[in-house]
Amino acid sequence: MSPDPIADGLTVAVIGGGPAGLSAAEVMSRAGLKVKVFDAMPSPGRKFLLAGKGGLNMTHSEPLTTFLARYGDRQILLEPYIRAFGPDALRAWARDLGVETFVGTSGRVFPAGMKAAPLLRSWLQRLRAQGVQLHVRHRWQGFQAAPGGWKVELTTPDGPHSQHCAALVLAMGGGSWARLGSDGAWMPTLQAAGVSVAPLLPSNCGFDTTWSTHFRERFAGAAIKNVAAWYGDEKETGSARRGECLISDTGLEGGLIYALSGGLRQQWLREGRATVWLDLMPERTASWLADQIAKGRGARSMASHLQNQIGLKGVKAGLLREACSAEIYADPRALAARIKALPVVFHAMRPIDEAISTAGGVRFEALDEHLMVKNMPGIFCAGEMLDWDAPTGGYLLTACMATGRAAGDGVLDWLASVAQAPGSADDTMSARLLSG
Ligand SMILES: Cc1cc2nc3c(=O)[nH]c(=O)nc-3n(C[C@H](O)[C@H](O)[C@H](O)COP(=O)(O)OP(=O)(O)OC[C@H]3O[C@@H](n4cnc5c(N)ncnc54)[C@H](O)[C@@H]3O)c2cc1C
Repeated sequence: MSPDPIADGLTVAVIGGGPAGLSAAEVMSRAGLKVKVFDAMPSPGRKFLLAGKGGLNMTHSEPLTTFLARYGDRQILLEPYIRAFGPDALRAWARDLGVETFVGTSGRVFPAGMKAAPLLRSWLQRLRAQGVQLHVRHRWQGFQAAPGGWKVELTTPDGPHSQHCAALVLAMGGGSWARLGSDGAWMPTLQAAGVSVAPLLPSNCGFDTTWSTHFRERFAGAAIKNVAAWYGDEKETGSARRGECLISDTGLEGGLIYALSGGLRQQWLREGRATVWLDLMPERTASWLADQIAKGRGARSMASHLQNQIGLKGVKAGLLREACSAEIYADPRALAARIKALPVVFHAMRPIDEAISTAGGVRFEALDEHLMVKNMPGIFCAGEMLDWDAPTGGYLLTACMATGRAAGDGVLDWLASVAQAPGSADDTMSARLLSG
């Protein structure tokens, strides 16, 4: 075998045609490797397209240090990949595909037109031009070591199919929105192969509480705008965010709740319940509110008094009533304090299938710095199936694409290093691959 994996015409396989898998395929095909992408669905990038329905928030324009901090305790692990392909690189990549991006008022970055379809179309076209073969309706079932690398087992509508490859990138996504392809079914197979995997949990998701029938019937579907929210204790300790959330039939959802979902999930896992605190009037102080509420209300109901004196009405007024005992409602100071810190106690997270993303997945301890599985040389992992988590804001797609590219680069480096290892002229590649 020649010590040049590209000249050898080696095939590498990518399982999963989402942003992570396609990014890996892009890097490897550009370098000249023969790349086959297999996806279980009838077409690739279905979750990417769905994200486009919400405007496709691709990344964020904030300074890179702030951006990196959004990955919490995974920042240190993801940082090298995001420094190599971060927000600016992602925008340049889109431009190169003929799609300009713009920065929205919140600093979030969107493609012009706010649609994913033109970007995906152009991306797939370029990948095909680079020789990438895309095989849809090919569901990965597992793999085994084989001469020259790995044998990948797939099921197709025409029956089972196996593919030999010198290296393999797994990019099968997390476990939400299973109907779009990422069902987390890869988990037991990888666990059985000795790969350490953290359980998949909902992230950027809604939470359930118990509304009164009256409140639910009146306000389900209503948006609570311009509130601050935090988790933990009544006294805010740094997790507060401003924004809006939505009353659902069963609890709260929407951007503000998603942004806090990591901390809320931790509390829920620890205690079996989690509390979000809402400041319904973040622009007002508690003492100003108390003074206004204490003014005589005459024959007016408390609801119309609150509307007249402090402008609290609609869903915010309904929520306040829902969260107050008669005693608190009658005490201006206690009521003002409740307006500034209103607890909503969650007893459950919404099911994982409804979540925007999932936490958990292949643990970084199982991977080397090139995202190669330590106990399975030649197999790399990327994207949401890795054990990291981030809020919405473009952080998800950025990290999926950055890790996809890192895995692609990892394959290139690894194949080159294996081919050039001492003894490469007389050993078979498989012997070297399998000895690790
Ligand atoms: C409603 C919604 C809105 C979103 N909006 C945004 C947003 O605006 N910004 C943002 O940053 N993120 C957003 N996200 C999240 C983002 O879309 C995902 O984080 C991202 O798509 C994950 O990329 P991935 O390539 O890792 O996995 P996926 O995109 O899930 O792709 C995985 C692929 O693997 C395939 N696959 C799975 N199992 C197998 C198997 N056994 N065999 C073969 N193929 C398999 C699937 O069919 C799928 O095509 C949104 C998500 C949702 C649900």
